[in-house]
Amino acid sequence: MTGARDIPSFDAAPPRARLFVGAALGAGGSIGLSPGQAQYLRHVLRLKAGDPVALFNGTDGEWAATIAGFGKGWASVDVLRLRRRQVVEPDLWLLFAPIEHGRIDYLVQKATELGVSVLQPVITAHSRVHRVDVERLSANAVEAAQQTGRLTVPEMRAAVPLQKILADWPAGRRLMFCDESGSGPPVAAALSAEAPSGRLPWAVMVGPEGGFAASELDALAKLPFVMAVSLGPRLLRADTAAVAALACWQAVLGDWAEATPDP
Ligand code: SAH
Repeated sequence: MTGARDIPSFDAAPPRARLFVGAALGAGGSIGLSPGQAQYLRHVLRLKAGDPVALFNGTDGEWAATIAGFGKGWASVDVLRLRRRQVVEPDLWLLFAPIEHGRIDYLVQKATELGVSVLQPVITAHSRVHRVDVERLSANAVEAAQQTGRLTVPEMRAAVPLQKILADWPAGRRLMFCDESGSGPPVAAALSAEAPSGRLPWAVMVGPEGGFAASELDALAKLPFVMAVSLGPRLLRADTAAVAALACWQAVLGDWAEATPDP
């Protein structure tokens, strides 16, 4: 029997371009893209009017669209139909001490692929880098979110002092901090012990290249929402530690621990 499901559809071949847009998405809408997006579609991917693209905006799911036309510095797209429904993604913040250009970009890209919801730079006692280019890092997060297929873009926040963020800590959110001193329990066992409490909001924190100061370790040890963990016997660079810790969290408490839903 030949049914509608057997007819090759637009959705059978995923569009080559997947773009994050600010506009609301719904069938029949027409959206103007940014000059950067227009340039990317036209000159990098060499797409033409009529070619398919996918759009998401963080709230309305992912939509199939086609390029309506290009002009000088602009492109418009026609929104056709829903490809994927919006889903609830893990509520996972990453707190990280700013590190040098290049490695901080890597950290933001990988953390986005690993599903963090908020990227929060924190200034610690041994931080050597204090300035954070929020705009550049946000652009990195958007690009990584587009490429990795997630339905949101993590929120890139401005840097705050560690003391302040701990003083203003939101009720109900746990904080797993990566303690290079080795005094914390192994990460997998510590996270597994938390699994029965179900899906809670969490944050993961890694320190700067200089590590945490003794006074910071003392302050963290006193806070009821904090859990120290060890990432094994080797000293990791801060960016490696962030990627490793996020992968462990996703595998035990996050969406890697769930069956993959049908697309
Ligand atoms: N210079 C410091 C190391 C800092 S490594 C020292 O010599 O002790 C940067 C950050 O990565 C640390 O603050 C910590 O959060 C994380 N990290 C690195 N290796 C780790 C490990 N084996 N276990 C837990 N956290 C680690």
